[in-house]
Amino acid sequence: MAAEAVKVAVRCRPLSGREEARGCRAIVGVDSARARCLLRNPASPTEPPRQFFFDGAFSGEHSTEHIYNEIAYPLVEGITEGYNGTIFAYGQTGSGKSFTMQGVVDPSSQKGIISRAFEHIFESIQFLLRASCLEIYNEDIRDLLGADTKQKLELKEHPEQGVYVKGLSLHAVHSVAQCEQLMDMGCRNRAVGFTLMNKDSSRSHSIFTVRMEICTVGEYLDEHLRAAKLNLVDLAGSERQSRTGATGERLKEATKINLSLSALGNVISALVDGRCHIPYRDSKLTRLLQDSLGGNTRTLMLEPLPLSPHL
Ligand code: ADP
Repeated sequence: MAAEAVKVAVRCRPLSGREEARGCRAIVGVDSARARCLLRNPASPTEPPRQFFFDGAFSGEHSTEHIYNEIAYPLVEGITEGYNGTIFAYGQTGSGKSFTMQGVVDPSSQKGIISRAFEHIFESIQFLLRASCLEIYNEDIRDLLGADTKQKLELKEHPEQGVYVKGLSLHAVHSVAQCEQLMDMGCRNRAVGFTLMNKDSSRSHSIFTVRMEICTVGEYLDEHLRAAKLNLVDLAGSERQSRTGATGERLKEATKINLSLSALGNVISALVDGRCHIPYRDSKLTRLLQDSLGGNTRTLMLEPLPLSPHL
């Protein structure tokens, strides 16, 4: 379990019309069969490409449906077996995070990972589901589905239940449509606005969590409560890490985003390396995801890349 707890998959999107018009050329090649990417050095065409291996590597030819079935399906299936799980897309703005997670309606093969996960959960189970949605902006936590979406909430730690957000509202959900409605409401309530077109959302992280509880009756009519949760995380754009020249509020934002993303990177590296100490406490994002990253959980990190492959 530990060896496969964190999976990292890469998805290269095709060049956009604008990139093609500017004469951009792809330098990343995808070899899906071997789940690897080949990175060429454009300054030195004769040099052999460097190769990087992942748990999955997908190109512009692969639909979100294919990616879901290949790599996200087992994680979501695990939720029904009692494993917590987290799925997030990591990458710079414009690389394809929203395309992968939120998706598009047409063609249906490009419907996002989030809708697919909702459908998958409701197809396979009929038990109590509760959803919540929060935002981390400048290291402040807000309830995107709460009565007061401006109020800052505190992170607390319970000896048995672990880390939780005090006062976070939980909403019973009975259908995919209800999940999607809550997700839309959460997105609308983000501090910095959110639409597929409005890239301001790239400045905050949001976590939509579906919690489920199933009560099974054992051989001796003993009841067991099994609980698990799925976190669907929309991360701030990773390009902010290297952004310089920002001042005032933007500088504060960039510093906080940088802090969370590097803390997340450090946690993932520590988990992948099998280290004893996992630095969860370094940011609110990693503290909140602590019981869903590592241990008895599964995590999928999708890394969309902005350039398409031409092997
Ligand atoms: P991000 O959320 O990382 O800022 P987007 O998801 O908005 O990036 O993607 C940027 C643009 O690239 C959008 O116009 C989107 O439709 C397009 N795009 C991203 N990934 C793909 C893909 N796999 N195939 C086709 N178009 C894509």
